[in-house]
Amino acid sequence: MTFSIHGLAVARGIAIGRAVLVASTRLDVAHYFIEAGQVAAEVKRVRDARDAVVDEIHRLQVSVAHMGPKEAPHELMALLDVHLMLLQDEELSRGVKHWITDRLYNAEWALTTQFEIIARQFDDMEDEYLRERKADLEQITEKVLRAMRGVSLPVMQPMARATRKPSQQDLLLDDTVNVPLILIAHDLSPADMLQFKKSVFAGFVTDVGGKTSHTAIVARSLDIPAVVGVRLCSHLVRQDDWVIIDGDAGVVVVDPSPIILAEYGFKQRQGELERGRLSRLLHTPSVTLDGEKIELLANIEMPDDAAAAIRTGAVGVGLFRSEFLFMGRHGKLPNEEEQYLAYRKAIEGMQGLPVTIRTIDVGADKPLDENLRDDAHLNPALGLRAIRWSLADPSMFLTQLRAILRAAAHGQANVMIPMLVHASEIRQTMALLDHARVQLDNRGVAYGPLKIGAMIEIPAAALTLNVFLKYFDFLSIGTNDLIQYTLAIDRADESVAHLYDPMHPAVLRLVANTIAQCQAQGKPVSVCGEMAGDINMTKLLLGMGLRSFSMHPAQILAVKHEVLRADIGKLKPWAAAILADDEPAPRFSKRQ
Ligand code: PEP
Ligand code: MG
Repeated sequence: MTFSIHGLAVARGIAIGRAVLVASTRLDVAHYFIEAGQVAAEVKRVRDARDAVVDEIHRLQVSVAHMGPKEAPHELMALLDVHLMLLQDEELSRGVKHWITDRLYNAEWALTTQFEIIARQFDDMEDEYLRERKADLEQITEKVLRAMRGVSLPVMQPMARATRKPSQQDLLLDDTVNVPLILIAHDLSPADMLQFKKSVFAGFVTDVGGKTSHTAIVARSLDIPAVVGVRLCSHLVRQDDWVIIDGDAGVVVVDPSPIILAEYGFKQRQGELERGRLSRLLHTPSVTLDGEKIELLANIEMPDDAAAAIRTGAVGVGLFRSEFLFMGRHGKLPNEEEQYLAYRKAIEGMQGLPVTIRTIDVGADKPLDENLRDDAHLNPALGLRAIRWSLADPSMFLTQLRAILRAAAHGQANVMIPMLVHASEIRQTMALLDHARVQLDNRGVAYGPLKIGAMIEIPAAALTLNVFLKYFDFLSIGTNDLIQYTLAIDRADESVAHLYDPMHPAVLRLVANTIAQCQAQGKPVSVCGEMAGDINMTKLLLGMGLRSFSMHPAQILAVKHEVLRADIGKLKPWAAAILADDEPAPRFSKRQ
């Protein structure tokens, strides 16, 4: 039966495919497609691992049999029996074989997928005892996964599968390997999301998350349809259901009827045509109708993203979120050499265009590692985040600064500091930068010149701009956090997402005032929060005086389209009227 669920639109476009439900705890299991010729070996790999676990349990049963009732209570024997029974269950092995043979999933992915299916059946059971057996199933799945790690893995890279677009007929009748897959999870950390960058998924849906949560930001950078904050989605959708993601409307349609499929298939083609039209703007200079040149920069997460920035005509990188180099490494930080090579790669990838590397911004919804999530502190978004974290660990910070300085010898590089608010933090940062230079001098290592910028993303910073104007070469407004901290709305919490409002007069005034003060002093200023890539905001920001926008590469051409149709002479009074209004959103159209 067709039904739809609503969430928050995060990344535009329509995706149609089969649901792959993934529990976030199992995300560190590799997901890739095998070649048809590897099926037998892959099935054997699971079977061998399962047999190893069965043997282990048999051995355990023998030693338990020799123990007295005190050391080995009766329940332990019963539990081992249950584990054996589950391991030898036909449905488990048949299902795993199906995912490997018919879908070409790798063994680990096949096993966890079948686990999800059986676990759901347990969840639906009336009998409490049987319901609780789900925990046993989980334990044996983990055991088999662990045994598989011991069983030698065939050497292969995760493959980006060539996903051909399914025809109507495919969608209605076909169950073949080439059907696109939609990832559905309760939650995904930014690091999980990053792991999927080169992956096989055609779209993402999560139960939780806000529009500018870092998970959403990475999803947007993947440029495939995504919807977050869909509440019970991971409970309502079953493994392998057909789903449609409407990334523009924030809707997930489950089990669509042929008519609905046809309708969304049409929308999907329209979207592709629109992208085709926009791509013609690639070489068009970004200039308004009245001749103002507007700088369109890219936000990137990894050095390889520089290629997408160049492809979409960005004139530089306005924000390289360096923290993604530090994530998902189980707390082991990259050393100076690793970081230097990564920054250098991004700089060289931009072929002489400027690259602004933001120093590490972890904490809040961006834990270094999923297992190191900061639950200890009551309010991580107000805690040891970004520059606060860096200043609390000067040795880590100096390593990063040295790596950035060294990379700056290979092109135009800027460094940018997140979340500054106190003059004392600015002075400490500057002193550490000097110290990093001295350390490199002492080692006789070459480094390049750096322009130094600060993010304005805390209201207190926007209200004490003079101190920032004094110390920094440029400023960049981080509207994602500026909105969060001005309105006291957790950007990652979908339950208050409706109150996360870029058009709130307080937010607009802080942004406009920052732009105006920078302009008055001839200080370069840009916006690098999601607002910069939102075409509903382009003209308003132009009217406020902004001339530099930094956004996901995928947004650049759409924003350029807005720029080309803008007349700043007309936009200025319109923007001034909106700024003067205490309730601008309902009375003014955001679009001029
Ligand atoms: C911002 O806060 O607007 C920003 C660009 O930084 P991040 O989204 O990484 O916090
Ligand atoms: Mg920020």
